[in-house]
Amino acid sequence: MRPAWLAIAISCVCAVAHTAAYDLVILNGRVMDPESGLDAVRNVGINDGLISKITATQIRGERNLDARGLVVAPGFIDLHAHGQDVRSNRFQAADGVTTALELEIGRYPIAEFLASREGQAPVHYGATSAHIAARLDLFDREDGDGFFSGSRDASNSQRLTDEQLPAMIANVEQGLLEGGLGVGTGITYVPGASHAEIFELFRLAASYKVPVFTHIRQARYMGGDRLAPLQEVLADAAATGAALHVVHFNSSLDEDARIGLEMLRGVRAAGVDVTTESYPYTAGSSRIESALFENYQGDYAQLQWTATGERLTEASFNQYRAQGGWVIIHGRSEDTNTWLIAQEDVMVASDGVPFVGEFSHPRSAGTFARVLGRYSRDKRALELMSALKKMTLDPAARLQAFTPVMRLKGRMQEGAHADITIFDPATVLDRATYVQPAQTSRGIVHVLVKGIAVVKDNELVEDVFPGEAIRSELSRI
Ligand SMILES: [Zn+2]
Repeated sequence: MRPAWLAIAISCVCAVAHTAAYDLVILNGRVMDPESGLDAVRNVGINDGLISKITATQIRGERNLDARGLVVAPGFIDLHAHGQDVRSNRFQAADGVTTALELEIGRYPIAEFLASREGQAPVHYGATSAHIAARLDLFDREDGDGFFSGSRDASNSQRLTDEQLPAMIANVEQGLLEGGLGVGTGITYVPGASHAEIFELFRLAASYKVPVFTHIRQARYMGGDRLAPLQEVLADAAATGAALHVVHFNSSLDEDARIGLEMLRGVRAAGVDVTTESYPYTAGSSRIESALFENYQGDYAQLQWTATGERLTEASFNQYRAQGGWVIIHGRSEDTNTWLIAQEDVMVASDGVPFVGEFSHPRSAGTFARVLGRYSRDKRALELMSALKKMTLDPAARLQAFTPVMRLKGRMQEGAHADITIFDPATVLDRATYVQPAQTSRGIVHVLVKGIAVVKDNELVEDVFPGEAIRSELSRI
């Protein structure tokens, strides 16, 4: 039998521990975890940036947040966020995002990029090793604008020489070794890249067991057929064994998205690790000076200049193309848009672009709340748990094999990072529009990044920078 004094000693320890058991407690929220399927009212205890308890019994912390009537979800993970600055991060955080990664175009050099954001990021950040910038590094040229660096650069249209190709691959490899989250290639912006060059990128990715994230080649360079560029990257993935992630399936495949997804699923069924994503808008956006608009044949009125909101004419198109800047490209169907958002194996990613003054594409501020409010709640296009899975667990799973820290994200589970988005399912909605994109989403009540509030009571918290670098940990096979 246990001596009485020991029982007293234990109860004392418990009582002391009970009063300060957790730094922060989220009470009475509807906790949703796409991996375990948990969807129930629970209390969540947080210590040192980690979820240390999820329980139905009452707990207390030094600080207590009442989440009655609110959903407590893993923080959203955006695999496609070009906006890698404090202002972009604030719009992302207000949309429920706790990790915003630039995987399509990537960054180069990676070490420099990660160092530049240390201690200055409201949300977690990271990037792929950038094909385009690593390639431009081989040419004698002025530096670009830091995003599609050199997007107006003639060298993007040049073939690499036999000497340049291995030098480019070595540059991209260096980025992988510095923590790059795979290889990022906007093939569409590099019309000079041969099929052999792209194949070499896949071979490199395969040798490190990382994916290639890609904006597929422009249709007009492949006979005007949107499916041919998709087939190029599917074939490269199958031939090399590299994993593949096709970005913005909506804008790249347009009305061919249904058959394109059939191709992608067929290749996956044959054992190739291939995934994709979509953003919930019928208009795209890009830099007007980029190769995307070379010999532009489309309707000028479908283009909207972000700096003023005006629709373009041939004259203003030419003027702005010489000047450079962001343009919105209207014209895709809402039917296909909704269909893609509802597909189980299509992740949600924003393709958000930096704000220029008050202008941007609304997806930079509203993507996640728009899927939750407009498509899941209002249109009933997909279940809430399914919507959450596409913005939390699935993107984490895409990276976790070579980025172990991602195993601790995208989950509401004990031991996971306390990256948590608490939202009101009845009111969550995007507010950003094509004309006024600089509007934060509504219904995103609290957002925690490693336990630190970056959104509190529907308001952004300034002067907190809990975001950490997300780095791969690679070994060559
Ligand atoms: Zn793109």
